[in-house]
Amino acid sequence: MLDRTTPEFREALELYERASLLELGALADQTRWRLHPEQVVTYIIDRNINYTNVCVADCKFCAFYRRPKHLEGYVLSFEEIGRKIEELKALGGVQILMQGGHNPYIPFEWYLDLLRYIKRNHPIHIHAFSPSEVDFFAGRFGMTIDEVLRELMAAGLDSIPGGGGEILVQEIRDRVAKKKAGADRWLEVMEIAHRLGLKTSVTMMFGLGESSADRIEHLFRVRAVQARTGGFTAFICWPLQPEHTQLEHLGKTDAVTYLRTQAIARVVVDNVPNIQASWVTMGPKIGQVALRFGANDFGSLMMEENVVSSAGTTWRMTLPEMRRLIADAGFEPKRRRQDYSLLPEAA
Ligand code: SF4
Repeated sequence: MLDRTTPEFREALELYERASLLELGALADQTRWRLHPEQVVTYIIDRNINYTNVCVADCKFCAFYRRPKHLEGYVLSFEEIGRKIEELKALGGVQILMQGGHNPYIPFEWYLDLLRYIKRNHPIHIHAFSPSEVDFFAGRFGMTIDEVLRELMAAGLDSIPGGGGEILVQEIRDRVAKKKAGADRWLEVMEIAHRLGLKTSVTMMFGLGESSADRIEHLFRVRAVQARTGGFTAFICWPLQPEHTQLEHLGKTDAVTYLRTQAIARVVVDNVPNIQASWVTMGPKIGQVALRFGANDFGSLMMEENVVSSAGTTWRMTLPEMRRLIADAGFEPKRRRQDYSLLPEAA
């Protein structure tokens, strides 16, 4: 349990709760310019591939999953996944973000075969399997986290997404995602991944009924891991999309709270280099404003997004729109790779 009585923690909490919106935004903006002095906002062209929606974790905020034996449950075939990758490549895509439910019917060999199949037939950067999935594999197949990750890496895994982090405070996870990797375990998976040489992103989904102090604790815990490993490339936060979930009664988070939360994240987690704006959940206009509240990256031009859209949020945009939004906000749009290195513009 993190010590919430330190002057640093109290100061961050005070800033989050009491500073005016623009004051907080200005502090985040200063941090952003210190880390990224160039007038550039990056983005990536990738595709979410949710290989299965069958899941036994029963997270209360999830409208995407189906219980085993449900008629709408699916597992994508390797060929379907291959087709999706080729469609992505035709648009200039450089990575797939592949995540799925905790499906008890898939053997470990399937995941390894899938990675090998992709690398052999449709080579692309594979950003896949959030810490919750890795933890599920370890439990299901009687392996250590280290063993799971080494095998996935040997088969072709390139980096890990920060999905399933939600709020990294156990009391909150016990309420909304009891069966999934706990807060300590989630961070442990990340730390092991970093030590094995995998880069990862890290997320925070808020609006689950947690307090401001819980959100600050999440940020402090992320910062502590980063101080030890340096393995997080980017931080992304977004509010719960409660429609069609068991948490519908909590309602939607307003844009101001989103901007304040991203801004305090930029200030506190100043050792993670990049912050992605979440226009998928907040819409393009707030996405633009977020670029002056700490974000230096516009995230992904996603061809497919099933988890958030299952809960009713369906923001989409085309590549020219995305570039125009970035330019209208006063920045030069630049296409990047997964590791944030820039791609030639003409490519
Ligand atoms: S969020 Fe992921 S782990 Fe939780 S129920 Fe949905 S698919 Fe399963």
